[in-house]
Amino acid sequence: KTPVPSDIEVSQQIVKEVGLLPVADVAKQVGLKDDEVIPWGIAKAKIPLKARDSRKDLPDGNYVVVTGINPTPLGEGKSTTTIGLAQALGAVLGKPTIACIRQPSQGPTFGIKGGAAGGGYAQVVPMEEFNLHLTGDIHAVTAANNLLAAAIDTRMFHECSQSDEALYKRLCPEGKGFSPVMKRRLKKLGIDATKKPADLTAEERSAFARLDIDPDTITWQRVLDTCDRHLREVQVGIGAKETVKAKGGDGRIQHCRKSGFDITVASEVMAVLALARDLADLREKLGAMVIGYSRAGKPITADDLGCGGALAVLMKDAIMPTLMQTVERTPVLVHAGPFANIATGNSSVVADEIALKLVGQDGFCVTEAGFGADIGMEKFFNIKCRYSGLKPKCAVIVATVRALKMHGGGPPVSAGKPLSKEYTEENVELVTKGAANLVKHIENAKKFGVNVVVAVNQFKNDTPAEIEAVKKASMDAGAYDAVLSNHWAKGGEGAADLAAAVVKACNDNDAANFKFLYDVNKTIKEKIEIISKEIYGADGVEFADLANKQIEQYEKSGFGNLPICIAKTQYSFSCDASAKGVPTGFNITVREIRSCAGAGFLYPICGEIMTVPGLPTRPGFYDVDVDLETGDVIGLF
Ligand code: ADP
Repeated sequence: KTPVPSDIEVSQQIVKEVGLLPVADVAKQVGLKDDEVIPWGIAKAKIPLKARDSRKDLPDGNYVVVTGINPTPLGEGKSTTTIGLAQALGAVLGKPTIACIRQPSQGPTFGIKGGAAGGGYAQVVPMEEFNLHLTGDIHAVTAANNLLAAAIDTRMFHECSQSDEALYKRLCPEGKGFSPVMKRRLKKLGIDATKKPADLTAEERSAFARLDIDPDTITWQRVLDTCDRHLREVQVGIGAKETVKAKGGDGRIQHCRKSGFDITVASEVMAVLALARDLADLREKLGAMVIGYSRAGKPITADDLGCGGALAVLMKDAIMPTLMQTVERTPVLVHAGPFANIATGNSSVVADEIALKLVGQDGFCVTEAGFGADIGMEKFFNIKCRYSGLKPKCAVIVATVRALKMHGGGPPVSAGKPLSKEYTEENVELVTKGAANLVKHIENAKKFGVNVVVAVNQFKNDTPAEIEAVKKASMDAGAYDAVLSNHWAKGGEGAADLAAAVVKACNDNDAANFKFLYDVNKTIKEKIEIISKEIYGADGVEFADLANKQIEQYEKSGFGNLPICIAKTQYSFSCDASAKGVPTGFNITVREIRSCAGAGFLYPICGEIMTVPGLPTRPGFYDVDVDLETGDVIGLF
């Protein structure tokens, strides 16, 4: 239809007028057997990992990552392009294709961002189901995260009022042996785990029972999937019952401490879900998550708190990706949605692995990386591909004429106000200037040995001369190809040229050409410097005292060889969100470095990072309602 209706209207029109393919048939399209599909209603199904494992000897398909220029408030359309490209490869060119995208957080959906299922005639349907609840994975992450949070405070509460022996007796009551998670802790402490609880020496009992968590070192927060800014900082444990009598004395110990909430997708549990290879790996990673340190400076893990097994149980269904379809019935795997600043910003390793096996040698797995290529793509290559061992052949960099104009110095835009004439009228000079941002991303992507295809996501005001300017700048920068794409208005047909370019780019590259930017065995500082200089174009890196201290502690704790996941603004190559285009002559300042020891990366904090977005005066939820006659959701954009 023209003009293109809102995203939810397109989704509901397709579902009602064209009809959904039952998800079991979507699964059959890519060769899934009946026992490899766990239906979750009509439109969604969980895909167990045996779909990958039973095909382990088959070759992988072509691996394509979709990324973008530095985001602007004008929107670039990475998800829309990911879906449009998959529709073109699948429905138009007839290649076996699966798109892999993240599950969006409900917080921003009701806040300012709206949905993330793509847009126009390039989206996942039904978009309401995609954007809300899905198959409950985010809720599982919330449950797991908060169980561990409860375990931390409860443990400190009990340790505070009991002797080592009393603690031990309660943890290991007579007649009950050590549970598997307890045996893990015994092993870590070097205590013979085949012993019976009654046979431990007094010294071993103390070491086992008392964690002695230093409350000032606790980094584990509670989470929720709502933009509730008033929970960013809270006091926990202020109830009268949470004050306890001190061990060996009659003073009362108040157990309140300052803590806070993050949005669920910022939880390390989500990062673990995105990087885990299988149930065993998920179990290991969850158990190894570090929540803080003991007073003696030893890292305390979820397994030390006896919680790793329970966390794995809460997450065991969440490890299966959810199969859905696009408006053109192309299969889509939706899985995980870690934050792109403090985590990797990419969908899961297992979804990509399943997709690559299912599409086969001549097929395509199109996966999306969040934020701009300086963050999402860099983390995709250096962290996600490092853990999966998968080798991408092609990176699609999405740009729009209007966003490039902003990088070229176009005026700021404000929500709800009409765009100024710089954006609505032809201005080749501004586009050409702003294309420098795209050029730097192209040069960066090429460092990893992939072919780069630029997708110019067409908006209605773009003129031929402006589009030509973007294509020329891209080709001059060494892109494999640069193509105009109109999937938002026309669906797969509109992205046929883009799909043809991607097929050629993959055929023309050997996966063996793929390489990482740094060796993980370099020092923490060296790794941060390489990313900052090579990807961001910084002159150097400054480390605050706290960061220096933490680096020492991590190297001592054995976390020195983890890959680096820099948390910085997505709006600029630098740490200054207002520095558009290609800033030069700047340093990156690392304030502190936090660890995700379970998920497997360190994240330097460079700038202010918000882990619970706020809500504006008029949040998206004002528009959302249920049509009482049809039961349809309305107003979810
Ligand atoms: P990103 O993944 O880069 O955040 P999305 O793909 O989610 O961006 O798109 C954001 C919004 O922009 C969606 O509502 C989508 O419908 C809209 N959009 C994307 N491409 C176009 C286009 N070419 N013309 C008009 N609107 C578009």
